[in-house]
Amino acid sequence: MQTSQESMRAAYLPGNDKVELRTLPVPRPAHGEVLLRVKASTICGSDIRCIYHEHLGKGPEGYQGVIAGHEPSGQIVEVGPGCRRFAVGDRVIVYHISGCGVCNDCRRGYMISCTSEKYRRAYGWQRDGGMADFMIAEEKDLIALPDELSYADGAQVACGFGTVYEAIEKVGVSGNHAVLITGLGPVGLAAAALCRKLGAQQIIGIDVVTERLELAQSLGLCDSVLKSGPDNVVAVRELTHNYGVERAFDCSANAAARATAIRATRKWGRIAFVGEGGTVEFNPSPDVIHDQKTIYGSWVTSTWLMDELVERLVRWNLHPADIITHRFGLEKAADAYALMASGKCGKVAVCSDEELTLK
Ligand SMILES: [Zn+2]
Ligand SMILES: [Zn+2]
Repeated sequence: MQTSQESMRAAYLPGNDKVELRTLPVPRPAHGEVLLRVKASTICGSDIRCIYHEHLGKGPEGYQGVIAGHEPSGQIVEVGPGCRRFAVGDRVIVYHISGCGVCNDCRRGYMISCTSEKYRRAYGWQRDGGMADFMIAEEKDLIALPDELSYADGAQVACGFGTVYEAIEKVGVSGNHAVLITGLGPVGLAAAALCRKLGAQQIIGIDVVTERLELAQSLGLCDSVLKSGPDNVVAVRELTHNYGVERAFDCSANAAARATAIRATRKWGRIAFVGEGGTVEFNPSPDVIHDQKTIYGSWVTSTWLMDELVERLVRWNLHPADIITHRFGLEKAADAYALMASGKCGKVAVCSDEELTLK
């Protein structure tokens, strides 16, 4: 297929709430790499938190002035030498961190925790990402995107849905469980959508932004929503016959919300911390030890679990793109980031071709 286009547009995040569009030559894939026509690239909370406002991130979250965007999905238009699985025309999702491939973490599929300082590079952070017409990806970082899912569905799997699916697999969710989700941004909404498919009949959501509460209810993802406040624990207990929920997911990174997630969970319950940054204060004996609770930390996911998630999404007819509320062309990337930074939206996507007009 090899594109005849010689130049492409690409978005950079210089900080200070700015998006810079530059024109560059279309890159060529090297050994083990492919060239993708990017079809959908979604914006993540971490892009806003660590890059867009100012370059706060360090280490794995240090932005090195590359093309932005770590949640891309697209179609292969050129294959470099040495590729073993994927071919021109294939639809794929990019796992957002390219690891060395040979350390213990990479061999487990968790390239997110690759221990190689030299070779661990996240797309959109330390190597060029998906906010461009085309991007280079390593074949080993690709997940096949089934025809039943759109590219925008695929872009969501890359970070949001994969990340919560990992946490859900760790704590286990079924029809036995009432679930609390603190923070109803795109990751919280993804958690609700997956818990619903796994059978949870009572899902309670908490957020500070009214638009998010309304979205969670209008999408049918939460049965009850509560505005963040000091009475949240009491309210959750009232909704659960004074027991509290069996499972809680913090997707907010807010200290008070994390404490709520712990305290609104009943005896023997499990809590997963997914939201990044910030702190939390709780009293180990009454809040965790005496009630036999377990708190899990969960960071992104593995390539193999992403593979399995994609398979389940098709089986469940669950379309992650349903939580995308706004789509923009690449030329309007600045508007897309500004909207995401406002929080008054679900997921925001930068799309091209047929994905721009899909709902
Ligand atoms: Zn992300
Ligand atoms: Zn590695």
